[in-house]
Amino acid sequence: MRQPLIAGNWKMNGSKASADVLLRCVVAGSGGVSKSEIAVCVPFPYLYLGEQTLYGSEVRLGAQNLCTESGGAFTGEVSGSMLADFGCAYVICGHSERREYHGEDEASIALKLTRAIESGLTPILCVGETLRQREAGETEAVIAGQVDGVVDRIGIDAFAGIEIAYEPVWAIGTGLTATPEQAQAVHAFIRNRIAEKNTSIAEKLRILYGGSMKPGNAAELLAQTDIDGGLIGGASLNADDFLAICLAGEQTAA
Ligand code: PEP
Repeated sequence: MRQPLIAGNWKMNGSKASADVLLRCVVAGSGGVSKSEIAVCVPFPYLYLGEQTLYGSEVRLGAQNLCTESGGAFTGEVSGSMLADFGCAYVICGHSERREYHGEDEASIALKLTRAIESGLTPILCVGETLRQREAGETEAVIAGQVDGVVDRIGIDAFAGIEIAYEPVWAIGTGLTATPEQAQAVHAFIRNRIAEKNTSIAEKLRILYGGSMKPGNAAELLAQTDIDGGLIGGASLNADDFLAICLAGEQTAA
């Protein structure tokens, strides 16, 4: 049985003051969550605050990106070992916003996954199709390309230390959510794709759903067989909403 992971993706939001309050509220409310794992992926400048505030709690710290290189003359970049130094457990890789606005592709994402694993971090690899691709019936082909493009570069064994987040691009920040059936179908497709290479890794692999998950739809999504948690954007900026999603995960966890 896979333990659910509910991870917040704060994106580029907040201030020192609001991050402080949000972190404290999540820690304070996390006591009622025992079966699921909780993580918050904060902007780089708030990592130190996150490390301090989450210390001693069950809430794990994460980041939203890392450099393809392990260190050196790469102005403006942040390495995996720096994230680990701040106590990060997770790092998001290949989010659709980074694919779209920063030109990330399978080659650079594969490098980031490798750097993350080398640094002792667990990467959360994001995959997902656009609305145009879904309407053209290309969802499975797109997801297969995104998964295979990484598996072919770093090998299937690396997936023992990776989480995948299925995030339909058309559902991110739009208020549109994949139906539980639509999401389950893609999650099962991803698991089968991995199982073609290694059944034991596929069975243990956590596949999170992301895309306008909120308190009102979380329970139904998280109840699906192959949905093992959520990557939460907008709703993770409100502690009550985020914690309500965590509690919804509790009902479906073993
Ligand atoms: C995300 O960007 O990872 C995400 C899931 O965003 P939202 O929940 O706001 O759709």
